[in-house]
Amino acid sequence: MSVAKSRIAALAALAAVTLPAASLAGATAAQAAPVRAVPGYQTWQADVEQAVAPVIPWLQNRLGKGVEKPAIVLDIDNTALETYYHAGRANGPVLNVARWAEEHGVAVLFVTARTSSASARQQLEDAGYPVDAVCTRDHGESKGEGKARCREELTGDGYTITANIGNRSTDFEGGYFEKGFKLPDYNGQLS
Ligand SMILES: [Mg+2]
Repeated sequence: MSVAKSRIAALAALAAVTLPAASLAGATAAQAAPVRAVPGYQTWQADVEQAVAPVIPWLQNRLGKGVEKPAIVLDIDNTALETYYHAGRANGPVLNVARWAEEHGVAVLFVTARTSSASARQQLEDAGYPVDAVCTRDHGESKGEGKARCREELTGDGYTITANIGNRSTDFEGGYFEKGFKLPDYNGQLS
């Protein structure tokens, strides 16, 4: 066998060894995809970090252009608070955004599908959030309707909702915000 031929034979042997492993890894990933499990805390936090990273640069941009009564809107469950992973605890990357907003004259508003404003405000304050307003859903409203109505009312109060941060599609229905930042809900599994 020539040197070139033996090299090809060696490569073929190598491919024979490595290819099944590669296709096995592919098959495992393909099989894992349809399994709808909520990921572990570290994965969720990494996904949240990624979603939230562009918020402060966006707010800086908007503040630089001069916005009337600037505000951010935060969803509560699995956005401001780690409801699924640690009930009542602040979601660190979102809390950082809220604190930055407060320090820069941006109002921090909460819009939630919850129906009790007083208990929501208490939980948020206990978790360390600055709270300028909490708007809750009325009985009989869908989540999307209630949240859109809240943003409309807050806009009516003179706020410019520059950033709307939530983890469900219902957090973004109906307008009344400049830019949405969506955290994961893993196919609707996080409320
Ligand atoms: Mg939520």
